[in-house]
Amino acid sequence: MKNFNVEKLNSSEEIVLNNLFMTVQAKLVEEVGQSAFKSWLGLLRLYELKNDVLYLSLPSSFLSDWVIPHYGNKVDTICKKIFVGIKKTKIIVNNKINNKANNFQDFVSLTSKNNLKNNPSPLDPRFNFSNFVVGKSNEFAFAAAKKVAETNKVFFNPLFLFGGVGLGKTHLMHSVAWDIQSRNPDRKVVYLSAEKFMYEFVKSLRHKDIMSFKDKFRSVDVLMIDDIQFIAGKDSTQEEFFHTFNSLVDQKKQIIISGDRSPSDLDGVGERLRSRLSFGIVGELYKTDYELRLNILELKAKESPNIKIDREIIELLAKKITSNVRELEGAFRRLCAHVELVNRPLNMDIAKQILHDIFKANNRIVTVEDIQKKVSEYFNIRQSDMLSTRRSRVIARPRQVAMFLSKACTTKSLPEIGKLFGGRDHTTVIHAVKKIESLCKTDMSFAEHINVLKKTFF
Ligand code: ADP
Ligand code: MG
Repeated sequence: MKNFNVEKLNSSEEIVLNNLFMTVQAKLVEEVGQSAFKSWLGLLRLYELKNDVLYLSLPSSFLSDWVIPHYGNKVDTICKKIFVGIKKTKIIVNNKINNKANNFQDFVSLTSKNNLKNNPSPLDPRFNFSNFVVGKSNEFAFAAAKKVAETNKVFFNPLFLFGGVGLGKTHLMHSVAWDIQSRNPDRKVVYLSAEKFMYEFVKSLRHKDIMSFKDKFRSVDVLMIDDIQFIAGKDSTQEEFFHTFNSLVDQKKQIIISGDRSPSDLDGVGERLRSRLSFGIVGELYKTDYELRLNILELKAKESPNIKIDREIIELLAKKITSNVRELEGAFRRLCAHVELVNRPLNMDIAKQILHDIFKANNRIVTVEDIQKKVSEYFNIRQSDMLSTRRSRVIARPRQVAMFLSKACTTKSLPEIGKLFGGRDHTTVIHAVKKIESLCKTDMSFAEHINVLKKTFF
């Protein structure tokens, strides 16, 4: 490996090195747990590589006096695996403030500023394959994502990952990005949310700079667009995306897309794009089962080895919190915080108390009628108006809100929802959902009302 000093890097070297160092950090977290990492190793920085010795720095001798005997070997072993070709690693003290970003937080923003020069959405260093727990509900999606990361050939295009919120779509996509970058830093991987894609597109239109927008996206090796449903209904963005898509497919470049529903169910996406999207492999992330939830919690527990939570409490969480992994993690973190911060042992009763709201939300089956009732009360209209044909805004808007919430909080299909609102057509429901979504985006106080209402059902 070439010698370097972090003070004298150009930006592309910086990205590659930080990228490698990120992997080291992620591995360290994996091995020593979050809390030990934060206390001791989080301030470890890349310093330089000279004559095949990699120098890492810590800001004080207090830290290094502890880290070297306790973690020195571990750091060395991991660095040797990742900075291939180095002979050994040395930890030195450097108390000069180093402006070059190479810690977790900085790295994320660095990635978003410089990496791939595309200003993509940042990649979360915690999302990698090694901490993605595989179970029946996600094994296919996982295998497909792995396959894409491991080879330079394009076997299927695009890879379309879909599933409800909090089931691991973004986690998988980031994993692919990290994995590709660590295998082959020269491959240009661009990850961004569909929202960001649209933002970039609109910006380039405004600056009359559409050519460089096109070039930027069409010169990548792997393009990942997260939450594609966001560009549904945005015709010009969709059109541009479609062209980018086609041109990348023609060049045999890999595309990975995620969405909250399958390509064929993407309302507001043109037929051509929709069929293009279903062309490759569609990997669904299904709802988790008990076993997977338990395994995820076990992994989380391993990441914080100093925090002890009884097995029966873990099992309770896995049993009760069925909605999604994000919520499961949130519940677990809450318990950890309790153990760390409150000087009271955690038992079953206290755990139930702490997670009271989450358990309750996971217990309830909300019906469209519940929603109509609550929303009518909230907006002070008659419940029967939910079903009536009245179209004045004071009635129509709450009705749209109720439709939106019915879609978000129940498992009813659009036609079923339409029927329950006085026999309306499913397109009316789609329209309502879109309307509310767009109002939420443009009107903060409206979004707040929706949030309040949502909380009563979730
Ligand atoms: P989505 O993008 O589908 O809404 P995310 O990928 O953001 O969901 O996942 C939500 C949270 O759950 C993240 O913190 C992620 O790490 C975690 N998660 C989801 N699935 C898994 C899994 N199979 N193993 C470990 N963590 C998971
Ligand atoms: Mg996501």
